[in-house]
Amino acid sequence: MSTNPNAMTFGKKPQGGFREPMPLTDLLEPAVAEGPLPVGNWSPSRLLDWLLCPARGAWSCGVWELPAEFEWPANPDAQVGVATHRYAEARLNGASVDEARIAGADAALDTDPEEWLPLTDLWETAIRPAIGTPQATEQRLVLTLDGLPVTCVLDVIDEVGTIRDLKTTKRKPNPIDIARKSLQAPLYVAAWRQETGEAAPFVLDYLIRNKTPQALTLPVPVTEASIDRARRQLSWAQEQADNPDSIVPNPYTAYGCTGCPFVRVCADQWGFPHPETVTAEAP
Ligand code: SF4
Repeated sequence: MSTNPNAMTFGKKPQGGFREPMPLTDLLEPAVAEGPLPVGNWSPSRLLDWLLCPARGAWSCGVWELPAEFEWPANPDAQVGVATHRYAEARLNGASVDEARIAGADAALDTDPEEWLPLTDLWETAIRPAIGTPQATEQRLVLTLDGLPVTCVLDVIDEVGTIRDLKTTKRKPNPIDIARKSLQAPLYVAAWRQETGEAAPFVLDYLIRNKTPQALTLPVPVTEASIDRARRQLSWAQEQADNPDSIVPNPYTAYGCTGCPFVRVCADQWGFPHPETVTAEAP
């Protein structure tokens, strides 16, 4: 494994090949590679990778070099999110329903539109009216926390000045779990305040992919303490990134390794078995 902090070998990123936890903002507008990481600035999703597992963070941020043959695993669920997000973005920027559907389809060419079109219908009736005339869409800001730049791409600032982020999911979100874990909330609110001097509330608009899709809006409270927590998490992650030889894998979190795009690379590097080689047999 290279511990070269400038390592930038990232394997191939096929269309449609991303893992779930990566926020859509990163899929749609990757941070420019000019920040303190080999891949550029920090972002909520990059910080999330480090918090889930330092090894995952090291690979996703280029601190550890990935093998040249590495390919990002396909993630059809993420593509549903991309298409839905593109649709909503187009509509908020004045596109007709048909034009927005084309934008959504273009963003997820390999995805059956029936997977995401029902979500766009629900967005029109359940979420679009709450947004009103947006003050801004896809607002790209660079927050500086303790000297570290964090790229924040705010989906929408709605008519009354609330920061809103659109999510698609298969499971109904747990509000307290979301409030504890959201990195977007403190970072986006801090970024908006740095830019405008104004405090703004933050909500997550969920489109839940049930048989009958449901919409749910979750306010995520942001306090000075939660912004300070994000600042410390970021500072800890930067320290890790600055000391690649001290980074260890952490398969012990509740999230675990399931769904980690680096599971095979990690198995090769750290002696974990490849998932398909592990079976349980009745005694
Ligand atoms: S497979 Fe598990 S231990 Fe390895 S990088 Fe991913 S989350 Fe970390």
